[in-house]
Amino acid sequence: MSDIIQLLPDNVANQIAAGEVVQRPASVVKELMENSVDAGADHIKLIIKDAGRTLVQVIDNGTGMSQTDARLAFERHTTSKIRSAEDLFNLHTNGFRGEALASIAAIGHVTLKTKKEDEELGTLIQINGGKLISQEMITKPVGTSIEVRNLFYNIPVRRNFLKSNTVETRHIIDAFQRVALTYPDITFSLIHNDNEIFNLPSGNLKKRIVNIFGKKINEKLIPISEDTEILKIEGFVAKPEFAKKKRGEQFFFVNGRFIKNAYLHHALVSAFEGLLPNAYHPSYFLYLSVPPASIDINIHPTKTEIKFDNERDLYAIIRSTIKHSLGQFSVGPVLDFDKNPTLETPYSYKNKNINSPKVIVDPGFNPFESKTEGKINFPKKEIKQNWEAIYTEADKPVQNDISNQEKNSLDLFKEERNSQTTYQIHQKYIVSTIKSAMVLIDQNSAHQRILYEEYLEKITVTGIGSQQLLFPKEISFSKNDTDILKEIKIDMESCGIFFEIKNNETISITAIPLSLTEVQLLPLFENILENYKNGVPESSFSQLDSIAKSMSRSAAIKKGVKLNQKEQEDIVNKLFLCKEPNFSPFGQRTYITISLEELENKFNQ
Ligand code: ADP
Ligand code: MG
Repeated sequence: MSDIIQLLPDNVANQIAAGEVVQRPASVVKELMENSVDAGADHIKLIIKDAGRTLVQVIDNGTGMSQTDARLAFERHTTSKIRSAEDLFNLHTNGFRGEALASIAAIGHVTLKTKKEDEELGTLIQINGGKLISQEMITKPVGTSIEVRNLFYNIPVRRNFLKSNTVETRHIIDAFQRVALTYPDITFSLIHNDNEIFNLPSGNLKKRIVNIFGKKINEKLIPISEDTEILKIEGFVAKPEFAKKKRGEQFFFVNGRFIKNAYLHHALVSAFEGLLPNAYHPSYFLYLSVPPASIDINIHPTKTEIKFDNERDLYAIIRSTIKHSLGQFSVGPVLDFDKNPTLETPYSYKNKNINSPKVIVDPGFNPFESKTEGKINFPKKEIKQNWEAIYTEADKPVQNDISNQEKNSLDLFKEERNSQTTYQIHQKYIVSTIKSAMVLIDQNSAHQRILYEEYLEKITVTGIGSQQLLFPKEISFSKNDTDILKEIKIDMESCGIFFEIKNNETISITAIPLSLTEVQLLPLFENILENYKNGVPESSFSQLDSIAKSMSRSAAIKKGVKLNQKEQEDIVNKLFLCKEPNFSPFGQRTYITISLEELENKFNQ
């Protein structure tokens, strides 16, 4: 039998490789723009036709290429960026595999025009499907222009695989924005079907963000800056009140590259805990610098994933830095309920004194640090002061950025409540009046908030008292669930729930907190187990907090329960003594206010 193994012709090999590098027009945008950045350009223009199907063109004023380099640039594994494998560890540019241009040329009609500064004439090269069509000398300003037409013309399957123009354009804009946000000192523009979509003059990061996302975002941005031995963070987060229902403006850059990392995203989201209603997403633009040896960026050109050696430390630093900044800019009271000392990295805040408003912020506050140390500054009186301060001083540093709702509560609660009268409506809401407004309180989520803060306070200070059950209550679980319960038994005991594990599938509950009833136990345990499974298992730090939340959900007064006058007033009063009265521990709004003015307007319509 004759030999059957053959070397693939270059253009076929390139086509196959191309499929990996170039998944859609946006991949071409990314590669070409990054090449322009690497070439030292300070003006980069992107021109697109038909969502990139007909044309993707990038024009730059970078170094340009010599005639020989221009030709070589389209060969596979040709790069000016590394010479040896060691260079890989010292990379300061985006490219290095020398694959992008060869791949793109294999699956499109490419025209390259380029000229170096010290050469009189430039070079024009045309390549279709990896085949050189023509090469000539041209006159042209310094820099490079690469046009890619009819992408995937020779791979119809790929072409058909593309999504609608709207979707592909969205991908292109994402790619463009990521590069533009990485290099605010470079001028970028984007023209789609002859319309200028972006024109971004060089400037600082804030200016770049504002130019991309609109003037309005300016007042919403809270600066972030932290420098520790293992991580430097710069950038901005948007204030919680501007959180969005859609995910979107969420950008992590690590050592100058846009990356996606669910774990760090979680760290960020958790810093906003209690400040965002359910299903809202925070916006952020964060630039992390870590020692290069501590990361492993998957060097596949289309990947944006990254692995960190010390993920848990980074998690803790990011979370507390963001919380700290939210606190300094008085966005909300900062209560770090669920820090675990083992996750804390010893480092000090450099910018401790940025003109912080008068809200009392204690970034180091950790109710779970030690149970024996006695008093922790959580007395009710201070809470009240804090809470008032939040509404009186809080928004001063940045003006005009309080939503109406927020503004109302701000004015209203400075005034004393002038009446103790409350009404319950539909056995769901409590109506109460204050001087110039009415308040509508959701009895269930308000009570959850009250209980949650009560539990946390008790856990840290006095311990949650529990009562022995006359007859221990047995509950059956799966073996897996019993194993989890074994693991969190001590935390459960801190929360006043005592049980014994009888065998692989049964536990026997012996004591529970006074606020719980026996019928609530099964759903409570199920809830705690569910949370445990969905949480970040290897970081146990929010376990206690999570149990406290589950307990508050189980024990809270439900909708449909009739409340007497005393019970209603109790809820109203206690809610507004809470540290974070606005939301339930699960992010539901606890109350809304309607000012007299709003009411009058309604009647005058
Ligand atoms: P890589 O970026 O990984 O080196 P590419 O295939 O993207 O590989 O580019 C190959 C080479 O072509 C680069 O190393 C660079 O020398 C040159 N090149 C590409 N684009 C430009 C540009 N816009 N300006 C100057 N040189 C460029
Ligand atoms: Mg490149």
